[in-house]
Order: sequence, then structure tokens, then C-alpha cells
Amino acid sequence: MAFHIPHIALGDKLWLLHAAAFVYYITVSVIFLTTDLYITIPHIYADYDFTGILLRYLLTVYIFFNMVANHVLCTITDTTYRNREDPDPVPRAWGHCMTCQVHTPPRTWHCSICHNCVLRRDHHCFFTASCVGHHNQRYFIVLSFHVAVGSLYTGLLNAGYLHHYYVPFSGTGVFSYLFPVAFYKLVAGQTTGFLVFMLVMTYVAFGMSIMTGTLFGWHMLNAYNGQTSWESHNEIRTYDQGPAKNLYEIFGSFWVLSFLIPRQTALPGDGIDWRRPKPLKSL
Ligand SMILES: [Zn+2]
Ligand SMILES: [Zn+2]
Repeated sequence: MAFHIPHIALGDKLWLLHAAAFVYYITVSVIFLTTDLYITIPHIYADYDFTGILLRYLLTVYIFFNMVANHVLCTITDTTYRNREDPDPVPRAWGHCMTCQVHTPPRTWHCSICHNCVLRRDHHCFFTASCVGHHNQRYFIVLSFHVAVGSLYTGLLNAGYLHHYYVPFSGTGVFSYLFPVAFYKLVAGQTTGFLVFMLVMTYVAFGMSIMTGTLFGWHMLNAYNGQTSWESHNEIRTYDQGPAKNLYEIFGSFWVLSFLIPRQTALPGDGIDWRRPKPLKSL
């Protein structure tokens, strides 16, 4: 497996967007991790025994570890069709990239941000500063899964904390969770800036969970159907070989394990040769 550092150079097109996305992601992740470990878990579970608290610490660190590992793997895994020479003869199903001046395999598309042709290109991701394609899509999918779960967990912890230390989430107290009411309470000296900050981060956490959860669902659906996002939009089912083979092609063997621990198993295909035996109807 080849690695590369993405060529998103300073001054290059959209570099500021990459930087902003990355800084946002890192900042929010560190705030989530810090408030989980130092604020919400110790306070909410203060009455629990050592094992009960330790398990919640471990769950938080475990999710964060999976996020970081899959993020790094998604960024550094080379999924481009770079430095290649045209095969002789060029297969009939292949296309041609005018920018790279090279013939390209089916499902390969040029990314004008990466300045490269990308194997089974799905989309460009600003948060990981990389194109999501044949060799790294599995890391992207697992990353979105863990961000969704981690954000949901943080949101629930924050909500539990606010219920105890801000205003009980019941009756008219529910209105205190609306931003205008919360800011009024802050200005009136009825609450602290820290609690309003925790309220804001609770909204951020639930918002991120919904967005990344939707992203995860969309990509898993396409993976299940053997389609890229573009193929899904255009209802192209040329490469659908049935759910089991489709998932094997993206995740490698024992695909469920990828969601439990970061793993770099070999993939069955190289992202170049898409000649297929007769598609399997069902598996
Ligand atoms: Zn190209
Ligand atoms: Zn790209």
C-alpha cells in the first residue's frame, strides 16, 4: 500500500477551506474529548464505582482513537492514478483525462483540487484534505461512523450534565435550552458563561452527529449497492455484484471488523481493472 501526503499547497486553490475545515474538526474533537473526560463523566457518574467510571473513560478514548486513526489513514492512503503510462493497447472501456494527458480506467475521475486522477473517485473531502476513492473510502466511512457515534455520546453526556447543573430538562425548564433564553440568563447573571458554552457545544454535538450519521448512511447504502455517489445519483448499477461482494470490494475481508479497530487489510481489486465476470444476482 502506497502512502502520500496530499498536495494541498499553501496558496493553492481552496487551501483556506481545507485549513478551516481541519481546524474546526480538530478544535471540536479536542473540546468534546476534554469535556467528556474532565467535566461531564466525572460529574454525572460521581456516585458510580471505579469500574463504572473507567468503562466510560475507555469508551470515550476508544471512539477518539478510531476517529484519529481512520482520519490519518484516509488522508495518507494514495488512491490516485498518478505517474502511470498508458497500457498498450488501451482497453476500450477506458477514458482519457485531458488534464493529466493519460488514459484512465473506468470509474476514475480527475479532481481539480488534488490535481490528479482518482481511482473510483467518490468525492473530495475537505476535512481529510483528500479525495475519497478506491483505496481510502473504507477509512472515510468508518471515520464518519465514529464521528457520528462520538458526537452523539458527547451530546448525551452534555445534556445529562446540563440537566444537573444548568436547568432540569423538564416542564418550563426546557425553554432555558433555547439560545435566546440562555443568553438572557447569562446577561441577567442567572447562569455562567461556562454553562452557556456547554449548551452551545451540546447543539454542535447533536448537529455533527446528525450530519455525519447521514453521511455514513449515504455511503454505506452506496457501498452496499456497489455504487459511487455519482453512480448513485445517475442510477448506474454497472458494477453492482450483490451486497456481499460490493462490501468486500470496499472494506476487504471481514468488513465489520473495520468498524471495531482500524485495519489495513488487502483489497480484492486494484481500482484499475473493472472487468467483471457475470454479476452475481444475490449473495
Ligand atoms: Zn487527471
Ligand atoms: Zn480531490
